Amino acid sequence: MAKANMSPTKNEMPTQNARVRAHNFQEVALGYTEDQAINEANRCLNCKNMPCVAGCPVRIRIPDFIAKIKEGDFEGAYQIISQSSSLPAVCGRVCPQEVQCESRCVRGAKGESVGIGRLERFVADWHNTLCAEAPIRPECNGHKVAVVGSGPSGLTCAGDLARKGYDVTVFEALHTAGGVLVYGIPEFRLPKAIVAKEVDTLKKLGVKIETNVVIGKTLTVDELFAQGFEAVFIGSGAGLPNFMGIPGESLCGVYSANEFLTRSNLMKAYLEHPETPIMKGGKVAVVGGGNVAMDAARTALRLGAERVSIVYRRSMEELPARREEVTHAEEEGIEFCLLCNPTEILGYHNPDDPRDPKNGFVKGMTCVRMELGEPDERGRRRPVVVEGSEFTMEVDTVIMSIGTSPNPLIKSTTEGLEVNGRGGIVINEEGLTSRRGVYAGGDAVTGAATVISAMGAGKTAAQAIHEALSK
Ligand code: FAD
Ligand code: SF4
Ligand code: SF4
Repeated sequence: MAKANMSPTKNEMPTQNARVRAHNFQEVALGYTEDQAINEANRCLNCKNMPCVAGCPVRIRIPDFIAKIKEGDFEGAYQIISQSSSLPAVCGRVCPQEVQCESRCVRGAKGESVGIGRLERFVADWHNTLCAEAPIRPECNGHKVAVVGSGPSGLTCAGDLARKGYDVTVFEALHTAGGVLVYGIPEFRLPKAIVAKEVDTLKKLGVKIETNVVIGKTLTVDELFAQGFEAVFIGSGAGLPNFMGIPGESLCGVYSANEFLTRSNLMKAYLEHPETPIMKGGKVAVVGGGNVAMDAARTALRLGAERVSIVYRRSMEELPARREEVTHAEEEGIEFCLLCNPTEILGYHNPDDPRDPKNGFVKGMTCVRMELGEPDERGRRRPVVVEGSEFTMEVDTVIMSIGTSPNPLIKSTTEGLEVNGRGGIVINEEGLTSRRGVYAGGDAVTGAATVISAMGAGKTAAQAIHEALSK
């Protein structure tokens, strides 16, 4: 057994050079080599009480898979992870590890925690590259289940049920399966080939995926039951963008982050002759400070913007995005306009431009400076306007990234489906809604959250559906 590596810092993640990557859509983080992975694994102390496992929403047996890496048994490590997670290549890349598994790691007390996410990514990539055996399709048990939405919650629920022999059909509103993993998170953070491979594995397990079907419009939940489905899982996410309600939000050049990222990621607006128009170039302001705002800002930069500013009403300390994403954004040249809040988006008309829209184009954004006052009910210091601090930013494009909510369409077309004040579907701890046979999970229940929590919810509901239908 190799001696423990007591270095206080993680093995650094190799990344693409910041100046180069700011102009391409290839993945930023390049992944560990075998030697780096073993060296990082040797930082793990194999703690008996496994505090890190309690920080993982799907309870991956972290010390066990890391022990396999130490031995060089990467496939053994993969087999352990895959008992708890069906999307390790995704979670190893996008999980907010620093507030989940890694936040509980004992090595974090005197230095950096073990790079659990990086090791998980290494193992998943190693398996996907070298051990791509076809999954075994189980015998069908005769029960039909419908899954609404093909994001991480829906894909996980579908996969778990298909492995138990259920006849599963996923109904997806968009033309490609994957949810936010394909339309939201950009290629440079999560290559789409990884998601496509997961979807392909599900198809090989017998899962049918029907795209371009909007449940609540093309078909209702009641019609799914009438077609012979015995249970329905709703994993329709929280894709309805919030806006600030300030003047000028209907100007041409104002996008929601969801629209902007969907046009770029899913509809490939960065190609020379794209099917969908999008701004390329000019000065861009992204309003908000979460991961979605960082993704929109970094995408705008890669699309050719000459300047991109994050406009956020609190300070860097309160910025909710992952530190790693903020650092990457800063390295790439994104500017941070902090303690600043927009009050109006300004427009203009150009009668000489044949594209001149009815509402006009964006030419600037009026903002006010903020300072932090007393803490609010969640303990975060409340931003307060500094009197007389109004100023105007010159911008051509504004991307609103101030949160999303669940779309009310399914609720409005499904009798007896209870939702809470924020539009989230109400469920019990097994994922069952107020409607018999209808289960739900992921962002459709919680509002915008994380990939791993959506996956966990899909798993819980799959187990509950199995228990109900196998009685
Ligand atoms: P979604 O992934 O939203 O999938 C829902 C699917 O349902 C969509 O494909 C939608 O088209 C479909 N649908 C909706 N309505 C219907 C209908 N009526 N009929 C049929 N289909 C329907 N999380 C992290 O953990 N780490 C990150 O780094 C991270 N970055 C993010 C970046 C962006 C830009 C965004 C937007 C989110 C990010 N998240 C991140 C959050 C994470 O992606 C979500 O929490 C997660 O995808 C939720 O999964 P879900 O299955 O509930 O829903
Ligand atoms: Fe950590 Fe996420 Fe992996 Fe769980 S799934 S071990 S939280 S990186
Ligand atoms: Fe290893 Fe850290 Fe988990 Fe201990 S807490 S087993 S050191 S990853």
